[in-house]
Amino acid sequence: MQDLDTQIPTSGSRRVNTTFLGDKSPSAVTINAALTDHGRLDVSRTLQLITNPNVFAGGDVVALNETHTLIKAGAHVPVIVENILALLKASENGTTVANLKTYKKAMDGIVITNGVTRGVTYLDFFVLPILGWPIIIGNWFTAMVKSKSLLIGRAKKMMGQ
Ligand SMILES: Cc1cc2nc3c(=O)[nH]c(=O)nc-3n(C[C@H](O)[C@H](O)[C@H](O)COP(=O)(O)OP(=O)(O)OC[C@H]3O[C@@H](n4cnc5c(N)ncnc54)[C@H](O)[C@@H]3O)c2cc1C
Repeated sequence: MQDLDTQIPTSGSRRVNTTFLGDKSPSAVTINAALTDHGRLDVSRTLQLITNPNVFAGGDVVALNETHTLIKAGAHVPVIVENILALLKASENGTTVANLKTYKKAMDGIVITNGVTRGVTYLDFFVLPILGWPIIIGNWFTAMVKSKSLLIGRAKKMMGQ
């Protein structure tokens, strides 16, 4: 490796930061207890914390055995929303929910940009590797879907801007 003036590490991940919960939140103890050795939150297939079913988690913070991508985070959201609404409704009616919605692993996929006209896209529609090979697509497709725009327009639309 050459001598460097500055090195900015951009790989790896850090433990989920729960310090902002302090010790005043009644859920802090159970949330901290859900942290795995790798510092992510242990959740069931209903995306409730193993240590506290009143707390849901989705996105990169969960310790599910899957890659952490926006595709996965987006697939966690409807499960969490549906389950919270079902629990609230049951609570209002004084009943219990027999079956909460469970999360089914979403497709693997990542789009890595490299400048405006280059990049590489990895898609695995089959989820399980034994059912097929992932598709890897190069510059043209990647530039069309992401490199040119970095999905900024889409992100703005999602946030109502
Ligand atoms: C270079 C790169 C390329 C990627 N490309 C793809 C791709 O092509 N396809 C794909 O599906 N995924 C991709 N990913 C992964 C994707 O970005 C993540 O999986 C996704 O953003 C996870 O969403 P999240 O909401 O869980 O977490 P984040 O998007 O990390 O959101 C967490 C937010 O919480 C905020 N936050 C943290 N602590 C606090 C606090 N105490 N109080 C308030 N706010 C707080 C953070 O600032 C952040 O805004 C890529 C990731 C990287 C780094």
